[in-house]
Amino acid sequence: MEYKEDDYLQLSGIQHFAFCRRQWALIHIENQWNENLRTVQGRILHNNVHDSKSFEKRGSLLISRGMPICSRELGITGTCDVVEFKESKDGVKLYNRNESWLPVPVEYKKGIPKNNDSDKLQLCCQAMCIEEMLLCPTIECAYLYYGEPAKRELVYLDSSLRVKCKKMIDEMHLLFNRKYTPIVKPSKSCNACSLKDICLPKILKTKNASEYIKLRLGEL
Ligand code: SF4
Repeated sequence: MEYKEDDYLQLSGIQHFAFCRRQWALIHIENQWNENLRTVQGRILHNNVHDSKSFEKRGSLLISRGMPICSRELGITGTCDVVEFKESKDGVKLYNRNESWLPVPVEYKKGIPKNNDSDKLQLCCQAMCIEEMLLCPTIECAYLYYGEPAKRELVYLDSSLRVKCKKMIDEMHLLFNRKYTPIVKPSKSCNACSLKDICLPKILKTKNASEYIKLRLGEL
């Protein structure tokens, strides 16, 4: 099955979806957004990485910044922070270049590596888009760059990660088509969530408004 462009979802949404399905729905279905320190720092980092689209050659490496990507098969669209093309006889031809090149996406993240695989899923989706767009060989691995401790982490894009990506994106399409926002499931993640003041996990967990008011007033 192939999706129409009108039905494409934002690729970056997969990290929201992996973090909390309700957070993803609030952002991508209900268009709710709230900045906190982390989201502002993340936005600044990404703007610095690809404030404009560029393509440069460094030795045997081509570096593309801000490359738009999409997948008809997955029904997603987005932008890669960086795609590095390594010269290789097994690679693909690129416009205006004689040699053959193998692409490797690099996603930039501020802060430390997460204890979930949301960043890996986002990176894997990018690779799947690039494979489809360029008809290139399977991208075996790619990189996540973390601001702390300012180094790259190699990520193997194995079949289990790919299957998880596909399953998650299918689920995203399903919820998006139904315009369904999952109910709140308070967890430790809520403390770090930029949408907790919109989601109101405590009020939705309490049975009624008076119970919530008492809770907020510290009476319970
Ligand atoms: S506050 Fe908690 S339940 Fe609500 S969107 Fe954020 S992480 Fe999800």
